[in-house]
Amino acid sequence: MDNSEFRRQAHKFVDWMADYLDNIEDYPVKAQVKPGDIAAFLPDSPPTSGEDMDTIFRDFQDIILPGMTHWQHPGFMAYFPANASPPSVLAEMLTSTLAAQCMSWQTSPAATELEERMMDWLRQLTGLPEGFVGCIQDTASTATLAALLCARERLHKFSTNHSGLSITGTHTTYASAEVHSSVDKAVRIAGLGSDNLRKIPVDANFAMIPEDLEHAIESDLIAGCVPTCVVATLGSTSLSAIDPIRKIGEICQKYNIWLHVDAAWAGSALILPEFRWMIDGVELADSLVFNPHKWLLTQFDCSAFFVRDKAALIQTFEILPEYLKTREGDRVNNYRDWGVQLGRRFRALKLWFVLRSYGLEGLQTHLRKHIGFCQNLAQKVEEHKDFELLAPHPLALFCFRFKPAGQTEADLDALNETLLEKLNDSGRLYLTQTRIQGQYALRFVSGSPYTEQHHIDEAWALIQNMAQSLTKK
Ligand code: PLP
Repeated sequence: MDNSEFRRQAHKFVDWMADYLDNIEDYPVKAQVKPGDIAAFLPDSPPTSGEDMDTIFRDFQDIILPGMTHWQHPGFMAYFPANASPPSVLAEMLTSTLAAQCMSWQTSPAATELEERMMDWLRQLTGLPEGFVGCIQDTASTATLAALLCARERLHKFSTNHSGLSITGTHTTYASAEVHSSVDKAVRIAGLGSDNLRKIPVDANFAMIPEDLEHAIESDLIAGCVPTCVVATLGSTSLSAIDPIRKIGEICQKYNIWLHVDAAWAGSALILPEFRWMIDGVELADSLVFNPHKWLLTQFDCSAFFVRDKAALIQTFEILPEYLKTREGDRVNNYRDWGVQLGRRFRALKLWFVLRSYGLEGLQTHLRKHIGFCQNLAQKVEEHKDFELLAPHPLALFCFRFKPAGQTEADLDALNETLLEKLNDSGRLYLTQTRIQGQYALRFVSGSPYTEQHHIDEAWALIQNMAQSLTKK
């Protein structure tokens, strides 16, 4: 493709992109296809000769689009949002055109220096103490893995990287029973073993009970284990539980254990002064991750990973063969040594565009709007005689179920499962589910940049109508 054709196509694509966002509500929010429906249209073998872009684009519209779930749809209330505001989309267009691989300062000085500044802007915006530094990772899962590896290495004076794990005994990791599965995955990958992940009981608010954490650590020490890392969750995935960081941090200090805070989605709310209580005691943490790509209007992927001691991070990951050496040495930050991956995308640009376009006030308005939507709707759900809230809901997520009179627990599970399927099949709303104390629950999350009050009202009307239709004989 020559440059003039690239220009023609790019203009066409941008028009399509703007139209897509204008008309996003015409699409079913959740893809209405069956497994294999899309693959059936894809040739078994790759093309021998090149095809023209108009044909490829037509196939994108005809084949791919029907198989997409529309994450920016205002009816997307599943999982967590993956916010892609227009400024971050524009930045990603530039990023992909520059197509820089930003592994070291020298391979794109501006990318490194912008990332340093963006991480510090995020630190200030979220109220993290001075001294926390970090880098942008692809996802919270990667950041949590990096934290666990640092915990393991610091404990062994950075020797297990060389010697391997076999000589060092059973390493135990601690997290609440509500922890995200990325921690289960990270302990496996880090070689610590999921059998050695202790799921600590939670209180009535589903937050980790610090006394039980200490008790578990003591028992492990008696058994000859090596307590290595505690992961505190700030905003659990199922229901937004918030672990008490100060108390957990004090225990970690007492036993010299790395404390990682997983604030993947709720961390964005730290830009609101009224939610700063969530990080009381964060100065005791060794690392923290949150995802601007979930709730801070920044295109996926963008996960902010902070550490208190960057030396521990670098000592864990640095490997410097001759072909990667650069003249600046350690006078600059080389982010290739701050995590698992060597090659890195230029992710800071979209953050810069977003933070400048919205400013703190614009971002706060976005978050408060969605928290307000959820709080108001949760209240309506609570007041309805046939619905029940199943957990506290401090942020923009609440869990509920349809509970008409005269049903057994098993009936309620089945009824709510059917309700979820029907809602999602409607194409107008997309919710996901969880289990709370064994009960099947529907999760409602608000966060799409395109969701307004009338979408929330329509969602609630749809939920009530669908639910009532299920009980009509
Ligand atoms: N931690 C929490 C609390 C989450 O809610 C999630 C995802 O929803 C993750 C970790 C994993 O995030 P990522 O997809 O960025 O790895």
